Amino acid sequence: MKNEVGEYCGLCGVIGAGESISALVAEGLFAQQHRGQEASGIATLDGTGEILLQKKNGLVSELMLDFPEEMRSEDILAGIGHVRYGTFGGSSVINAQPILVRMADIPVAIAHNGTISNAGVIRRSLQRKGHIFQTNTDTEIVLHLMSRELEDTDYNIEKCLQLAISKLEGAFCLLLLVPQGMYVIRDSMGFRPLSLGKIAGGGWIVASETIAFPVTDAEYVREIVPGEMLFFPINGDKSCCEPVSSISGRELQLFPESGKRHAHCIFEHVYFARPGSYVFGDRVYEVRIEMGRQLAREFPADCDMVMPVPDSGMFAAMGFARELGLPLDMGFTRNHYVGRTFIDPGHATRAAMVMRKLQPIPEAIKGKKVCVVEDSIVRGTTSKARIKALREAGALEVHMRISCPPHRHACYFGIDFPEETSLIANKYSVDEIRDILNLDSLGYMSVDGMLSCISAHPPENYCTACFTGDYPVVPPVKESNRRGRQI
Ligand code: SF4
Repeated sequence: MKNEVGEYCGLCGVIGAGESISALVAEGLFAQQHRGQEASGIATLDGTGEILLQKKNGLVSELMLDFPEEMRSEDILAGIGHVRYGTFGGSSVINAQPILVRMADIPVAIAHNGTISNAGVIRRSLQRKGHIFQTNTDTEIVLHLMSRELEDTDYNIEKCLQLAISKLEGAFCLLLLVPQGMYVIRDSMGFRPLSLGKIAGGGWIVASETIAFPVTDAEYVREIVPGEMLFFPINGDKSCCEPVSSISGRELQLFPESGKRHAHCIFEHVYFARPGSYVFGDRVYEVRIEMGRQLAREFPADCDMVMPVPDSGMFAAMGFARELGLPLDMGFTRNHYVGRTFIDPGHATRAAMVMRKLQPIPEAIKGKKVCVVEDSIVRGTTSKARIKALREAGALEVHMRISCPPHRHACYFGIDFPEETSLIANKYSVDEIRDILNLDSLGYMSVDGMLSCISAHPPENYCTACFTGDYPVVPPVKESNRRGRQI
């Protein structure tokens, strides 16, 4: 399904971890590269209270090729990093994160995962008041909102931050680096994952996904609670961070939970997060296996073999095959080197573009009734080409099972789906999709079935809006955004 829907962003922040903070942030980002390949960036805080920034379009490995020596120095006390898939704003490096500004001469760096759904309204309102924006991102509005509060709060950055984020709606996990330390914020509905880990040699790490913890020698501590704002202070003399035993996150609980429902993105479990991550209290691997089993219970298939669409359909296919006692085989081979940097010569056919990434293996599928397990169908064009390729490679029958319900609605909370009218399930019934894709049978998991695979939180605490249209908060209306409103 990749290439049809965008991943969004990944965050990593490290503080109090001794001499190798930049390296730890880079490792944490590298482990989360699947969350964004468009741009990467790291901001570091040194012993003089200065924040330095390095960011560029490209992967973390490319960022680190010419990473400045002064940002690797032993003098670095904390760092925040970001991998970007742009859900808001263009792909210019100016929109890469972290964003670094000087606010009344105080350096502030910010990195964000999610989509601030009222960003358009706020931005237009600020522009009318004379604010000049340097980027097209929704993230930059947080800095502008903070700057408006400086005078009234006597230049108290923490109060400015609290006042700024109280005006935000939608999905936002934020890391802020300031001379006093690092702030960590998660929106009150908890759309996106954000977890805290303890580094073995001392210090703390915060990351979108816990897959960043083993590579930084950190142990999972807990999720950042929805609505929580944590502050990790730097020692008074700024010579080093407090040792791990005495650093204590100062929990402000900015948005008391007050009975508000949470809205964890179920699609993190279906597709986005890495299987090794622990997301919203469940291991993604286990959830995906169970999703495959549940899919098999709802829509078994009369077939000779089960095959995944690699890589994201892999674990659901394993569960599906195990539940039905069917053999699992790799009918597709994947080219791992197809990436962002491949320059299309301009003459490639649609089939060539599809085959460039996944190629069927005739010996695995010839003369067989195959059941393809995929995590989702978005536009349907890629699936159609792949099914055609399977038939041409000799498959006797091609069945398809999807480990989530049909995607019928837009996401306003950080996932870059195409417009609703481009979603195949927005226009066609499941039977019509089966015929359009030239399948022998097609089955999608039910919403209840999908939610039954989660164990950490009750079903009502997950967002399923792109499947059901039941939005946890009122989605932004374009017309009211255009008119703007006072903030
Ligand atoms: S609309 Fe879908 S993709 Fe967006 S947050 Fe909700 S479940 Fe996740």
